[in-house]
Amino acid sequence: MADRDGVIWYDGKLVPWREATTHVLTHTLHYGMGVFEGVRAYETDKGAAIFRLQDHTDRLFNSAKILGMAMPFGKEELNEAQLAVVRENKLASCYLRPMAFYGSGKLGVAPPANDVHVIVAAWPWGAYLGAEGIERGIRVKTSSFTRHHVNITMCKAKANGNYMNSILANTEATRDGYDEALLLDVDGYVAEGSGENIFVVRKGKLYTPDLTSCLDGITRNTVFEIATEMGLQVIEKRITRDEIYIADEAFFTGTAAEVTPIRELDNRAIGVGTRGPITAEIQKRYFDIVQGRDAKRAEWLTLA
Ligand code: PMP
Repeated sequence: MADRDGVIWYDGKLVPWREATTHVLTHTLHYGMGVFEGVRAYETDKGAAIFRLQDHTDRLFNSAKILGMAMPFGKEELNEAQLAVVRENKLASCYLRPMAFYGSGKLGVAPPANDVHVIVAAWPWGAYLGAEGIERGIRVKTSSFTRHHVNITMCKAKANGNYMNSILANTEATRDGYDEALLLDVDGYVAEGSGENIFVVRKGKLYTPDLTSCLDGITRNTVFEIATEMGLQVIEKRITRDEIYIADEAFFTGTAAEVTPIRELDNRAIGVGTRGPITAEIQKRYFDIVQGRDAKRAEWLTLA
């Protein structure tokens, strides 16, 4: 990732990709106290457009607030930085990674309060769980790792350190030949994937875990809007893993994962064992929205 052409926005300046470096004593590198976002820009008829830019920026600032991290830039500057990296790297579509981290000012556990840095990088990134996964669905395994307890790490923050748990779970699942992990909360109820929210479809209704121990996903929220348009009820409730075994359909949502059907959980086929019709319709509407084909949702797209 480090050896590429292009520019990265780094503390207010666009710097050559290979020069966007930091010191080995960077506080966040040691302890994981940082916040980030995952954002996508899509190719539309009018050019590259960032999907739900303001919502991602708002969540980044909320994550920083939760961690008590003082952001050295305003939301408008960060919005502009994200648009700039898409434009300056001449990207038709891409994934964007804004991140705020503590610098190398000091290395005790207490972070160097006035040494917060911000970067925004962008690069092309196709289907996160594979193009085939989008079509056919993926195979998922319930993780042996439990999702965060609400008073251990802060589940509403998209915080760097939270992802150690995600990496443990994802690595375990993929090493065992699955595509992704499903994490349960401390009480054994379904929380989310390592980087996705989860939905199940049963008897024409959508169910998804409430937000207690999962990230407040922007794609999840988009699916709520799509479901309303489709006249589908969405019920937020505690879900057990066996409810997913006997669901008609299931799918993951996320900026990177978009809408990815789940065809199998713990070696049990879900429904007919491939992408279901409600998932397919939600997926279609999602891609229409992000690629600018749904005029009703034009306000969610910001042209770079
Ligand atoms: N949960 C986790 C743990 C995630 O990392 C993500 C990806 N940001 C999501 C859910 C989905 O969130 P969003 O739809 O906002 O990308």
